[in-house]
Amino acid sequence: MAKPNPYEDAKKLISEATGKIKLEPWIRESLLATHRELQVTFPIEMDNGAIKNFTGFRIQHNHMMGHFKGGIRYHWDVNLDEMRALAAWMTIKCSVVNIPFGGAKGGVICNPKDMSEKELESMTKAFVRRILPIIGPDIDIPAPDVYTNAKVMGWILDEYSRCMGKKELAAVTGKPIKMGGSEGREEATAKGGLFVLKEMIKERYIKGLDSLKDKKIVVQGFGNVGMPFAKFAYEEGAKLIAVSDSKGAIINKDGLDIPKVIKHKEKNGCVSDCSNAANTTNEGILEMDCDILVPAALENVITMENVNKIKAKVILELANGPVSISADGVLNKKGIIIMPDVLANAGGVAVSYFEWKQNLASEYWSKEEVNKRLEKIMKENTALVIKTAKKHKASLRLAAYILAISRIAKKAKKELDENHYTCLVKYL
Ligand code: NAD
Repeated sequence: MAKPNPYEDAKKLISEATGKIKLEPWIRESLLATHRELQVTFPIEMDNGAIKNFTGFRIQHNHMMGHFKGGIRYHWDVNLDEMRALAAWMTIKCSVVNIPFGGAKGGVICNPKDMSEKELESMTKAFVRRILPIIGPDIDIPAPDVYTNAKVMGWILDEYSRCMGKKELAAVTGKPIKMGGSEGREEATAKGGLFVLKEMIKERYIKGLDSLKDKKIVVQGFGNVGMPFAKFAYEEGAKLIAVSDSKGAIINKDGLDIPKVIKHKEKNGCVSDCSNAANTTNEGILEMDCDILVPAALENVITMENVNKIKAKVILELANGPVSISADGVLNKKGIIIMPDVLANAGGVAVSYFEWKQNLASEYWSKEEVNKRLEKIMKENTALVIKTAKKHKASLRLAAYILAISRIAKKAKKELDENHYTCLVKYL
């Protein structure tokens, strides 16, 4: 079976959502294309003296809501259509939670696990120099994604500031706190997902799910997002029965001791062989009987190949695009509720927005302040997605797209009415 193309899936969803609302054709066409695509290749001297070329991308999808915003991914599978899809999902995501950013994404084809810290730093800085003309605090602001983290964002800030000849704190988010990062950014995506889940429970949207206490949860991917989510759910009294990373999975049907698994992962670099748990396969845990399945690794892990084996009652998409569009249709028919990526993992970009705002205003917000604002944004917009789903008799995913695109269209119309967009259309 051919691997689903995430960009084609993203465009199908945008098309379906635009069919449900009155929309100027040019807005629909803009959303079905990308604003700008940059592909770069650059050489790096490796530790052994060899010179190696790397290829990377920065894709800017749409900026009707505000400056471009999106993560940077280091992975061997990075490719143009994946980046386009991730950039389009960012446009929708920022609008779903009503923050004034548009969508972008970047990545470099590499295997960061086989590279030294020095090589990664050189590669990051060379990539920044190549994409320099199209990034910046008032153009396009990068953030962490798969196999990048606060340290990598710090290198981006250093190189960007060096090239511009001045410190530009707001040029990147997800930085270390001591370099101008925000409190609460590291666990924001996970915390946002938890707020979405709690709001769904409060709104009684999911039959039979009245709290997280003793609910069986499976988490695929134990990184920036999956690990803190497992910790928060564990603290809420949920039973984490299986977790995984790229090297393998572990299972304990009575519930894993998550603080112990975190210590084990930090010490050994993987979850496998943790005490009081049995090793199992990555694919197997997706098919376990559980209340909530949380894909928090990569896209297309639930496709037509395994969709009929999924037994979870609810899927909380903390990863971007973990369910292919065809599999999504099957799950909807079966009555499995999917909390879509563009809502469920939007906590990260929401706190990135807070970080950017703090940097521009030279402010510092406490963790309590950040979490309070995050909770408000996530809960309010989850309630609106539910309302939209009921109004249009749509899935939560389609409802999120309808809400996001309606907001984008409204903003574009306002700009046109005020003549700002005429400028954009003419000169950009
Ligand atoms: P990460 O690199 O920190 O973690 C990814 C985890 O997935 C790692 O534990 C890795 O070992 C595991 N993994 C990789 N391949 C796997 C496989 N085949 N099976 C099981 N596990 C596998 O990345 P992250 O930042 O946590 O991102 C995870 C997902 O969340 C991505 O889809 C990303 O786009 C999305 N996301 C991240 C953020 C953020 O703030 N970091 C925000 C929104 C969405």
